[in-house]
Amino acid sequence: MGKRLDIINSGGSYPVEIEHGLRFRTEEKIRQVCPDATSVFLIADENAASHYLNDVLSSFQQPPHVIFLQPGEGSKSIEELQRVLTELLEHGADRKSVVAALGGGVTGDLAGFAAAVLLRGVSFVQIPTTLLAHDSSVGGKTGINHPSGKNLIGAFYAPAAVLYDPAMLQTLPEGEWRSGFAEVIKHSLISRSGFLEWLSDNVNNPRDLQDEALEELLYRSIQVKASIVEEDEFEAGVRAYLNFGHTLGHAIEAEAGYGTWTHGEAVALGMLAAMHLSRFKLQADLPLENVKELLENHGFQTALPHSFDHQKLLERMKRDKKTEAGNLRFVLLRELGMPELIPVETELVKEALKEVTSDD
Ligand code: ADP
Ligand code: ZN
Repeated sequence: MGKRLDIINSGGSYPVEIEHGLRFRTEEKIRQVCPDATSVFLIADENAASHYLNDVLSSFQQPPHVIFLQPGEGSKSIEELQRVLTELLEHGADRKSVVAALGGGVTGDLAGFAAAVLLRGVSFVQIPTTLLAHDSSVGGKTGINHPSGKNLIGAFYAPAAVLYDPAMLQTLPEGEWRSGFAEVIKHSLISRSGFLEWLSDNVNNPRDLQDEALEELLYRSIQVKASIVEEDEFEAGVRAYLNFGHTLGHAIEAEAGYGTWTHGEAVALGMLAAMHLSRFKLQADLPLENVKELLENHGFQTALPHSFDHQKLLERMKRDKKTEAGNLRFVLLRELGMPELIPVETELVKEALKEVTSDD
Protein backbone atom coordinates (compact mmCIF):
# COMPACT_ATOMS: atom_id res chain seq x y z
CA MET A 1 0.00 0.00 0.00
CA GLY A 2 1.05 3.53 -0.64
CA LYS A 3 2.68 5.18 -3.59
CA ARG A 4 5.52 7.59 -4.06
CA LEU A 5 6.74 9.89 -6.81
CA ASP A 6 9.88 11.98 -6.75
CA ILE A 7 9.58 15.33 -8.49
CA ILE A 8 12.85 16.50 -9.96
CA ASN A 9 13.49 20.24 -9.94
CA SER A 10 16.37 22.71 -10.03
CA GLY A 11 16.94 22.26 -6.32
CA GLY A 12 17.15 18.45 -6.51
CA SER A 13 13.95 16.56 -5.93
CA TYR A 14 11.12 16.15 -3.46
CA PRO A 15 8.89 13.20 -2.66
CA VAL A 16 5.14 13.06 -3.04
CA GLU A 17 3.91 10.28 -0.80
CA ILE A 18 0.33 9.05 -1.15
CA GLU A 19 -0.87 6.66 1.51
CA HIS A 20 -3.90 6.06 3.65
CA GLY A 21 -3.07 6.84 7.25
CA LEU A 22 0.01 8.92 6.44
CA ARG A 23 -1.23 11.71 8.74
CA PHE A 24 -0.40 9.53 11.73
CA ARG A 25 3.26 9.57 10.66
CA THR A 26 3.61 13.28 9.94
CA GLU A 27 6.52 13.99 12.29
CA GLU A 28 8.52 10.97 11.12
CA LYS A 29 7.98 11.96 7.47
CA ILE A 30 8.98 15.58 8.09
CA ARG A 31 12.13 14.42 9.91
CA GLN A 32 13.05 12.28 6.93
CA VAL A 33 13.22 15.27 4.60
CA CYS A 34 14.31 17.87 7.19
CA PRO A 35 16.55 15.92 9.59
CA ASP A 36 17.95 18.98 11.35
CA ALA A 37 14.66 20.86 11.79
CA THR A 38 14.63 22.92 14.99
CA SER A 39 10.84 23.24 15.13
CA VAL A 40 7.71 22.61 13.11
CA PHE A 41 4.87 25.09 12.61
CA LEU A 42 1.55 23.86 11.34
CA ILE A 43 -0.65 26.21 9.34
CA ALA A 44 -4.07 24.62 9.27
CA ASP A 45 -7.36 25.25 7.53
CA GLU A 46 -10.05 25.37 10.24
CA ASN A 47 -12.30 22.80 8.58
CA ALA A 48 -9.49 20.37 7.84
CA ALA A 49 -8.21 20.91 11.38
CA SER A 50 -11.60 20.16 12.93
CA HIS A 51 -11.39 16.66 11.43
CA TYR A 52 -7.68 15.83 11.34
CA LEU A 53 -5.61 18.11 13.54
CA ASN A 54 -5.61 15.72 16.50
CA ASP A 55 -4.49 12.84 14.28
CA VAL A 56 -1.64 14.90 12.88
CA LEU A 57 -0.62 16.21 16.30
CA SER A 58 -0.65 12.71 17.76
CA SER A 59 2.29 11.87 15.48
CA PHE A 60 4.55 14.43 17.21
CA GLN A 61 6.61 13.99 20.34
CA GLN A 62 6.70 17.77 20.78
CA PRO A 63 3.46 19.23 19.43
CA PRO A 64 4.05 21.96 16.84
CA HIS A 65 2.64 25.44 17.19
CA VAL A 66 -0.57 25.65 15.16
CA ILE A 67 -1.74 28.72 13.24
CA PHE A 68 -5.34 28.48 12.04
CA LEU A 69 -6.63 29.87 8.75
CA GLN A 70 -10.24 30.67 8.04
CA PRO A 71 -11.58 28.70 5.09
CA GLY A 72 -11.93 30.50 1.81
CA GLU A 73 -10.03 32.50 -0.77
CA GLY A 74 -10.18 35.56 1.52
CA SER A 75 -7.34 34.05 3.54
CA LYS A 76 -4.93 34.47 0.63
CA SER A 77 -4.44 38.14 1.53
CA ILE A 78 -1.50 40.32 2.44
CA GLU A 79 -3.09 40.89 5.88
CA GLU A 80 -3.28 37.16 6.57
CA LEU A 81 0.28 36.73 5.35
CA GLN A 82 1.37 39.43 7.77
CA ARG A 83 -0.52 37.79 10.64
CA VAL A 84 0.99 34.38 9.89
CA LEU A 85 4.54 35.75 9.57
CA THR A 86 4.17 37.66 12.83
CA GLU A 87 2.94 34.59 14.64
CA LEU A 88 5.78 32.49 13.23
CA LEU A 89 8.38 35.03 14.36
CA GLU A 90 6.81 35.59 17.77
CA HIS A 91 6.88 31.87 18.41
CA GLY A 92 10.56 31.62 17.64
CA ALA A 93 10.75 30.44 14.03
CA ASP A 94 14.34 30.28 12.81
CA ARG A 95 15.99 29.32 9.55
CA LYS A 96 15.77 25.64 10.36
CA SER A 97 12.10 25.71 11.24
CA VAL A 98 9.67 23.85 9.03
CA VAL A 99 6.32 25.29 7.93
CA ALA A 100 3.74 22.61 7.18
CA ALA A 101 0.39 23.32 5.53
CA LEU A 102 -2.64 21.21 6.50
CA GLY A 103 -5.48 22.07 4.14
CA GLY A 104 -6.40 22.68 0.51
CA GLY A 105 -5.05 25.05 -2.09
CA VAL A 106 -5.71 28.18 -0.06
CA THR A 107 -3.67 26.94 2.89
CA GLY A 108 -0.90 25.55 0.70
CA ASP A 109 -0.59 28.73 -1.34
CA LEU A 110 -0.46 31.06 1.65
CA ALA A 111 1.70 28.85 3.87
CA GLY A 112 4.07 28.13 0.99
CA PHE A 113 4.51 31.82 0.28
CA ALA A 114 5.01 32.54 3.99
CA ALA A 115 7.71 29.83 4.05
CA ALA A 116 9.31 31.28 0.92
CA VAL A 117 9.71 34.76 2.37
CA LEU A 118 10.23 34.06 6.07
CA LEU A 119 13.93 34.63 6.78
CA ARG A 120 14.45 34.33 2.99
CA GLY A 121 13.07 30.83 2.95
CA VAL A 122 12.43 28.02 5.43
CA SER A 123 11.49 24.45 4.59
CA PHE A 124 7.92 23.85 3.58
CA VAL A 125 5.85 20.65 3.70
CA GLN A 126 2.44 20.22 2.10
CA ILE A 127 -0.21 18.05 3.72
CA PRO A 128 -3.10 18.36 1.24
CA THR A 129 -6.63 17.67 2.46
CA THR A 130 -8.60 18.36 -0.73
CA LEU A 131 -8.72 16.60 -4.09
CA LEU A 132 -7.98 19.86 -5.91
CA ALA A 133 -4.77 20.19 -3.92
CA HIS A 134 -3.35 17.12 -5.68
CA ASP A 135 -2.83 19.67 -8.42
CA SER A 136 -1.83 22.79 -6.48
CA SER A 137 0.51 21.08 -4.01
CA VAL A 138 2.82 19.84 -6.77
CA GLY A 139 4.84 22.20 -8.90
CA GLY A 140 6.00 24.81 -6.43
CA LYS A 141 3.62 27.68 -7.10
CA THR A 142 2.83 29.65 -3.97
CA GLY A 143 1.19 33.00 -3.47
CA ILE A 144 -1.63 35.25 -2.41
CA ASN A 145 -4.23 37.44 -4.11
CA HIS A 146 -4.17 41.19 -4.68
CA PRO A 147 -7.25 43.40 -4.99
CA SER A 148 -6.33 43.60 -8.72
CA GLY A 149 -6.56 39.84 -9.24
CA LYS A 150 -5.91 36.31 -8.08
CA ASN A 151 -2.41 34.96 -7.41
CA LEU A 152 -0.71 38.19 -8.47
CA ILE A 153 1.83 38.04 -5.64
CA GLY A 154 3.84 34.89 -5.22
CA ALA A 155 6.93 32.83 -5.73
CA PHE A 156 8.02 29.53 -7.17
CA TYR A 157 8.97 27.70 -4.01
CA ALA A 158 9.15 23.93 -4.00
CA PRO A 159 8.07 21.96 -0.95
CA ALA A 160 10.47 19.61 0.83
CA ALA A 161 7.75 16.96 0.63
CA VAL A 162 4.08 16.44 -0.13
CA LEU A 163 2.41 14.08 2.36
CA TYR A 164 -0.95 13.05 0.96
CA ASP A 165 -3.27 10.98 3.11
CA PRO A 166 -6.31 10.26 0.91
CA ALA A 167 -8.32 9.16 3.95
CA MET A 168 -8.67 12.86 4.73
CA LEU A 169 -10.71 13.34 1.55
CA GLN A 170 -13.66 11.44 3.07
CA THR A 171 -15.05 14.56 4.71
CA LEU A 172 -14.78 16.83 1.66
CA PRO A 173 -18.09 18.39 0.60
CA GLU A 174 -19.48 17.13 -2.72
CA GLY A 175 -18.77 20.35 -4.62
CA GLU A 176 -15.14 20.33 -3.52
CA TRP A 177 -14.77 16.76 -4.76
CA ARG A 178 -16.13 17.73 -8.10
CA SER A 179 -13.87 20.75 -8.29
CA GLY A 180 -10.82 18.58 -7.80
CA PHE A 181 -12.08 15.91 -10.15
CA ALA A 182 -12.13 18.38 -13.05
CA GLU A 183 -8.35 18.65 -12.77
CA VAL A 184 -8.13 14.86 -12.74
CA ILE A 185 -10.07 14.73 -16.00
CA LYS A 186 -7.91 17.54 -17.36
CA HIS A 187 -4.77 15.55 -16.60
CA SER A 188 -6.28 12.55 -18.35
CA LEU A 189 -7.06 14.59 -21.48
CA ILE A 190 -3.61 16.13 -21.87
CA SER A 191 -1.64 12.94 -21.38
CA ARG A 192 -1.13 9.79 -23.35
CA SER A 193 -0.74 7.52 -20.36
CA GLY A 194 -4.03 5.67 -20.83
CA PHE A 195 -5.39 7.55 -17.84
CA LEU A 196 -8.67 8.54 -19.55
CA GLU A 197 -9.48 4.89 -20.29
CA TRP A 198 -8.50 3.97 -16.75
CA LEU A 199 -10.89 6.60 -15.38
CA SER A 200 -13.74 5.53 -17.64
CA ASP A 201 -13.22 1.87 -16.72
CA ASN A 202 -12.59 2.22 -13.00
CA VAL A 203 -14.27 5.30 -11.63
CA ASN A 204 -18.02 5.64 -11.36
CA ASN A 205 -17.93 7.76 -8.28
CA PRO A 206 -14.53 8.78 -6.92
CA ARG A 207 -16.01 8.89 -3.42
CA ASP A 208 -16.69 5.17 -3.55
CA LEU A 209 -13.17 4.21 -4.56
CA GLN A 210 -11.41 1.68 -2.38
CA ASP A 211 -8.23 2.86 -0.68
CA GLU A 212 -5.86 1.47 -3.25
CA ALA A 213 -7.82 2.69 -6.26
CA LEU A 214 -7.97 6.22 -4.83
CA GLU A 215 -4.21 6.14 -4.27
CA GLU A 216 -3.80 5.04 -7.86
CA LEU A 217 -6.05 7.82 -9.16
CA LEU A 218 -4.04 10.44 -7.27
CA TYR A 219 -0.77 8.86 -8.36
CA ARG A 220 -1.71 8.83 -12.03
CA SER A 221 -3.07 12.36 -11.98
CA ILE A 222 -0.05 13.76 -10.12
CA GLN A 223 2.23 11.90 -12.51
CA VAL A 224 0.84 13.90 -15.45
CA LYS A 225 1.33 17.16 -13.61
CA ALA A 226 4.78 16.11 -12.42
CA SER A 227 6.08 15.26 -15.85
CA ILE A 228 5.01 18.68 -17.16
CA VAL A 229 6.41 20.74 -14.28
CA GLU A 230 9.62 18.74 -14.40
CA GLU A 231 10.04 19.74 -18.00
CA ASP A 232 9.13 23.38 -17.34
CA GLU A 233 9.58 24.33 -13.70
CA PHE A 234 9.20 28.10 -14.18
CA GLU A 235 6.43 28.22 -16.78
CA ALA A 236 8.37 29.17 -19.87
CA GLY A 237 6.70 26.66 -22.20
CA VAL A 238 4.87 23.36 -21.86
CA ARG A 239 3.58 24.20 -18.40
CA ALA A 240 0.93 26.22 -20.21
CA TYR A 241 -0.66 22.88 -21.18
CA LEU A 242 -1.88 22.60 -17.60
CA ASN A 243 -4.03 25.57 -18.49
CA PHE A 244 -6.24 23.38 -20.68
CA GLY A 245 -9.84 24.45 -20.04
CA HIS A 246 -8.73 27.35 -17.87
CA THR A 247 -9.01 30.23 -20.37
CA LEU A 248 -12.80 30.06 -20.37
CA GLY A 249 -12.84 28.48 -16.91
CA HIS A 250 -11.23 31.50 -15.26
CA ALA A 251 -13.53 33.84 -17.21
CA ILE A 252 -16.63 31.95 -15.99
CA GLU A 253 -15.41 31.96 -12.39
CA ALA A 254 -14.73 35.69 -12.45
CA GLU A 255 -17.86 36.62 -14.41
CA ALA A 256 -20.13 34.58 -12.13
CA GLY A 257 -18.42 36.10 -9.08
CA TYR A 258 -15.81 34.04 -7.25
CA GLY A 259 -17.31 31.32 -5.12
CA THR A 260 -20.47 31.01 -7.23
CA TRP A 261 -18.97 28.34 -9.47
CA THR A 262 -16.22 26.16 -8.08
CA HIS A 263 -12.95 26.30 -9.99
CA GLY A 264 -13.44 22.77 -11.32
CA GLU A 265 -17.02 23.30 -12.45
CA ALA A 266 -15.89 26.28 -14.51
CA VAL A 267 -12.87 24.41 -15.87
CA ALA A 268 -15.10 21.50 -16.96
CA LEU A 269 -17.03 23.82 -19.29
CA GLY A 270 -13.77 25.38 -20.37
CA MET A 271 -12.46 21.97 -21.39
CA LEU A 272 -15.56 21.29 -23.50
CA ALA A 273 -15.20 24.67 -25.21
CA ALA A 274 -11.49 23.98 -25.84
CA MET A 275 -12.41 20.64 -27.41
CA HIS A 276 -14.89 22.33 -29.75
CA LEU A 277 -12.18 24.84 -30.65
CA SER A 278 -9.76 22.00 -31.31
CA ARG A 279 -12.22 20.57 -33.79
CA PHE A 280 -12.78 23.93 -35.54
CA LYS A 281 -9.16 24.97 -35.60
CA LEU A 282 -7.22 21.73 -35.94
CA GLN A 283 -9.90 19.40 -37.32
CA ALA A 284 -9.09 17.30 -34.27
CA ASP A 285 -10.98 14.06 -33.97
CA LEU A 286 -11.90 14.02 -30.28
CA PRO A 287 -14.33 11.91 -28.25
CA LEU A 288 -16.26 15.00 -27.23
CA GLU A 289 -19.48 13.15 -26.49
CA ASN A 290 -17.69 10.64 -24.29
CA VAL A 291 -15.99 13.36 -22.31
CA LYS A 292 -19.28 15.21 -21.94
CA GLU A 293 -20.89 12.04 -20.67
CA LEU A 294 -18.02 11.43 -18.26
CA LEU A 295 -18.46 14.96 -16.90
CA GLU A 296 -22.23 14.55 -16.65
CA ASN A 297 -21.84 11.25 -14.85
CA HIS A 298 -19.75 13.04 -12.29
CA GLY A 299 -22.38 15.71 -11.72
CA PHE A 300 -20.86 18.51 -13.76
CA GLN A 301 -22.94 21.06 -15.57
CA THR A 302 -22.00 20.71 -19.25
CA ALA A 303 -24.01 23.62 -20.67
CA LEU A 304 -23.22 27.27 -20.10
CA PRO A 305 -26.34 29.03 -18.75
CA HIS A 306 -27.83 31.80 -20.91
CA SER A 307 -27.21 34.32 -18.16
CA PHE A 308 -23.55 34.55 -19.23
CA ASP A 309 -22.83 37.41 -21.61
CA HIS A 310 -20.48 36.05 -24.29
CA GLN A 311 -18.96 39.46 -24.97
CA LYS A 312 -18.02 39.86 -21.31
CA LEU A 313 -16.52 36.38 -21.22
CA LEU A 314 -14.49 37.25 -24.31
CA GLU A 315 -13.20 40.43 -22.73
CA ARG A 316 -12.13 38.52 -19.66
CA MET A 317 -10.43 35.86 -21.78
CA LYS A 318 -8.44 38.57 -23.54
CA ARG A 319 -6.93 39.46 -20.17
CA ASP A 320 -5.70 35.86 -19.79
CA LYS A 321 -1.98 35.45 -19.16
CA LYS A 322 -1.59 33.47 -22.40
CA THR A 323 -2.88 36.38 -24.52
CA GLU A 324 -0.06 37.85 -26.59
CA ALA A 325 -0.29 41.21 -28.35
CA GLY A 326 -4.06 41.15 -27.91
CA ASN A 327 -4.41 37.71 -29.54
CA LEU A 328 -6.26 35.03 -27.64
CA ARG A 329 -4.32 31.81 -27.26
CA PHE A 330 -5.83 28.52 -26.15
CA VAL A 331 -4.47 25.16 -25.18
CA LEU A 332 -6.02 22.91 -27.83
CA LEU A 333 -5.79 19.19 -28.42
CA ARG A 334 -4.41 18.11 -31.79
CA GLU A 335 -5.56 14.70 -30.67
CA LEU A 336 -6.29 13.18 -27.32
CA GLY A 337 -3.21 13.62 -25.12
CA MET A 338 -1.52 16.04 -27.55
CA PRO A 339 -1.95 19.60 -26.23
CA GLU A 340 -0.63 22.65 -28.08
CA LEU A 341 -0.80 26.37 -27.40
CA ILE A 342 -2.51 27.94 -30.42
CA PRO A 343 -3.66 31.49 -31.31
CA VAL A 344 -7.40 31.45 -32.03
CA GLU A 345 -9.55 34.01 -33.85
CA THR A 346 -12.27 35.71 -31.82
CA GLU A 347 -14.94 34.49 -34.24
CA LEU A 348 -14.07 30.87 -33.57
CA VAL A 349 -14.17 31.47 -29.83
CA LYS A 350 -17.67 32.91 -30.25
CA GLU A 351 -18.67 29.77 -32.14
CA ALA A 352 -17.31 27.57 -29.37
CA LEU A 353 -19.23 29.58 -26.78
CA LYS A 354 -22.41 28.97 -28.76
CA GLU A 355 -21.64 25.25 -28.86
CA VAL A 356 -21.40 25.02 -25.09
CA THR A 357 -24.35 27.29 -24.35
CA SER A 358 -27.46 25.55 -23.12
CA ASP A 359 -30.27 25.05 -25.69
CA ASP A 360 -33.09 25.92 -23.37
P1 ADP B 1 -8.85 23.94 -2.84
O1 ADP B 1 -8.27 25.21 -3.41
O2 ADP B 1 -7.86 22.86 -2.71
O3 ADP B 1 -10.16 23.54 -3.39
P2 ADP B 1 -9.57 25.25 -0.33
O4 ADP B 1 -8.38 25.46 0.50
O5 ADP B 1 -10.26 26.41 -0.93
O6 ADP B 1 -9.15 24.17 -1.34
O7 ADP B 1 -10.64 24.36 0.45
C1 ADP B 1 -11.91 24.13 -0.03
C2 ADP B 1 -12.89 23.99 1.13
O8 ADP B 1 -12.80 22.68 1.68
C3 ADP B 1 -12.65 24.93 2.29
O9 ADP B 1 -13.90 25.33 2.78
C4 ADP B 1 -11.94 24.08 3.30
O10 ADP B 1 -12.15 24.53 4.60
C5 ADP B 1 -12.58 22.75 3.08
N1 ADP B 1 -11.77 21.56 3.41
C6 ADP B 1 -10.48 21.36 3.11
N2 ADP B 1 -10.11 20.11 3.41
C7 ADP B 1 -11.21 19.51 3.93
C8 ADP B 1 -11.48 18.18 4.39
N3 ADP B 1 -10.55 17.24 4.31
N4 ADP B 1 -12.71 17.91 4.85
C9 ADP B 1 -13.67 18.87 4.83
N5 ADP B 1 -13.50 20.10 4.38
C10 ADP B 1 -12.27 20.43 3.93
ZN1 ZN C 1 -7.10 24.59 -12.21
